[in-house]
Amino acid sequence: MTTVVGDPEHFVDEALAGLCAVHADLVRRVDGGVVRAHPLAEGHVAVVIGGGSGHYPAFAGLVGEGLAAGAVCGNIFASPSARQAVDVISEVEAGAGVLLSYGNYAGDVLHFGEAVQRLSTMGIEVRTVLVTDDIASAPASQAGQRRGIAGDLVVFKIAGAAAERGADLDSVERLAQAANARTRTLGIAFGGCTLPGASEPLFRVAEGMMSIGLGIHGEPAITDVPLADVDGIADALIGPLLDERPDGADDRVVPLLNSLGSIGDEELFVLYNAVARRLEAHGVRIMEPECGRLVTSLDMSGVSLTLFWPDDELAGLWTDAAHTPAYRKPGALRGAVGGRGSRSSRPRVHSAQSPSGPLADASPSSIMRATVVVEVLTTIRDELMAAEDELGRLDQVAGDGDHGIGMTRGSTAAVEAATAATTSGASAALQAAAEAWSDRAGGTSGALWGAILRSLAPLVEHGSLSTMLDDAARAAVSAVSDLGGAVVGDKTMLDSMVPWRDAILASTGGSAAATLHTAADAAASAAASTSALTPQRGRARPLAERSLGHADPGAQSFALIAAALARLASSTEGHPSS
Ligand code: ADP
Ligand code: MG
Repeated sequence: MTTVVGDPEHFVDEALAGLCAVHADLVRRVDGGVVRAHPLAEGHVAVVIGGGSGHYPAFAGLVGEGLAAGAVCGNIFASPSARQAVDVISEVEAGAGVLLSYGNYAGDVLHFGEAVQRLSTMGIEVRTVLVTDDIASAPASQAGQRRGIAGDLVVFKIAGAAAERGADLDSVERLAQAANARTRTLGIAFGGCTLPGASEPLFRVAEGMMSIGLGIHGEPAITDVPLADVDGIADALIGPLLDERPDGADDRVVPLLNSLGSIGDEELFVLYNAVARRLEAHGVRIMEPECGRLVTSLDMSGVSLTLFWPDDELAGLWTDAAHTPAYRKPGALRGAVGGRGSRSSRPRVHSAQSPSGPLADASPSSIMRATVVVEVLTTIRDELMAAEDELGRLDQVAGDGDHGIGMTRGSTAAVEAATAATTSGASAALQAAAEAWSDRAGGTSGALWGAILRSLAPLVEHGSLSTMLDDAARAAVSAVSDLGGAVVGDKTMLDSMVPWRDAILASTGGSAAATLHTAADAAASAAASTSALTPQRGRARPLAERSLGHADPGAQSFALIAAALARLASSTEGHPSS
């Protein structure tokens, strides 16, 4: 349980404000996250990290000299939005490009990927290195699909040290990739974690058991075995990690023993002894270990062990000094600090994404259409609010349980943004709604629903519902498949969207409402059929088997929205809704 919560809605904001107040000499709050208090010297690569909150010291606590220039901070366990990443990155970049590094999670990949595209149109070059250290999340043959957990710290530290030394963007990227390729982690959970304000944990570990392969978002682990003593825990961690010793590793290893939240330092030290004895028995030389809370999962009871096998170049970077709120290595820093105000001479890059000034008023007909946009979005929001618990439960089966809350947050923000932008016309209102949905919902589905609304914006200024329906259905499906890269059968929202689109394209004659009802029926039965599938995409993939027998949350929420749209069309056509 989280005891000190305040308003759960503002938990992350307040935690970040507190962090920046305590460490005002090191970090400062900006829109989207946290940046160094003293800007980077001109001509240095900026290392930017990020992800959901709830993992402190990842990510905000790792901002400082010798490590990250900034951290993009999402909501608890939810990826930050593209807008947040654009804001943080444009704040810190210092003319030599940006190395963006984060754990490999679908939502983060979508939002950060979109941010990288936007930044490139602003003239900022960003290279991405995904952290993929968790050996429990995919087999070695699919190492690129693995999630990032405590190995984050290794990759961030190496990139940060290289940037601090003045390495160029190519070198920082190469070194970060090399660090990731030589880093492996395995975790064990003894007890679940609880979201701030929630009364029940996200998951539980059965009494007398331990769960091997835990994720850091409360994703259930891969196998449950009887709770072992210290030696048994050390064996369970070390065995699989040594089996995956990377090619080219010599006898040096950096062990990082991490508490996921509630395991205290002294307990960790006890476990560390058992780990170190085993490593030495294997003829391995231990170098500059770490032991403590490195990448956590709220108050989860659990540990993870990371083994980083450096070569000479990486070993040198690992020992370099760093000074951040949560991570300090002694030694002289190499001086990538510009000093206060040093950047004032450089023209600031402005985010073109958040329209700040008032937009010109649109034509009366466009304003009329904007009110229809608001009405449609309101219908969607009401439907999603009513289904919030059901969607959350579905997502808890093999995902992280946030689909209901994410869809409610996103659609609520979309209604507010579209309402505020009504006088700018239908297309602008939909653009504003798209941005707001993606920004407030976070997560994979937030990015995808942002893309759906954005794809519809050019279509809503002309024509009637029946003439625009085909184009809208095509655009929505393309937006999701282009951004997410999934295909039908992967167990995603596309599984109900594609039959919905096809039903619309196949309909001849009849009213728009009738077409939408037929399409909604197709979406509903397709969503139900996803329970027979195993997920190939997104957070649920590592736990594919658990998902069998349950519908995909995103496919189900789309089907609910399709039904609500059909009812709205009937009521506006004056037909009885069914
Ligand atoms: P997250 O997975 O980031 O927690 P949500 O829980 O809000 O985000 O949404 C999960 C849903 O997103 C899944 O049920 C699935 O329908 C959809 N999804 C995940 N990845 C993709 C993808 N690549 N393409 C299309 N839909 C996806
Ligand atoms: Mg989810």
